[in-house]
Amino acid sequence: MLYFKACPRCRGDMHGGSDLYGPYRECLQCGHVIDLEKKSVLLDAISRERVSQGRKEKAA
Ligand SMILES: [Zn+2]
Repeated sequence: MLYFKACPRCRGDMHGGSDLYGPYRECLQCGHVIDLEKKSVLLDAISRERVSQGRKEKAA
C-alpha cells in the first residue's frame, strides 16, 4: 500500500509494510520509517526492563 506525500521528513511517498514488531511505513525517498505500533513496543521494552532489574536485585 502506498501513501503519497505522507513522509513528515521529506514529504515523499511512503509504502506500508509489516515485520516482527508490527506494521510500519517506510519512505521511498529518504528511508524514514514510522512504526505504527510504537506504544506497544515501548511498553514491551519497559516490562522487559523491569524483569531484568528484578532479577538483578535478587542476585545481589
Ligand atoms: Zn522521506
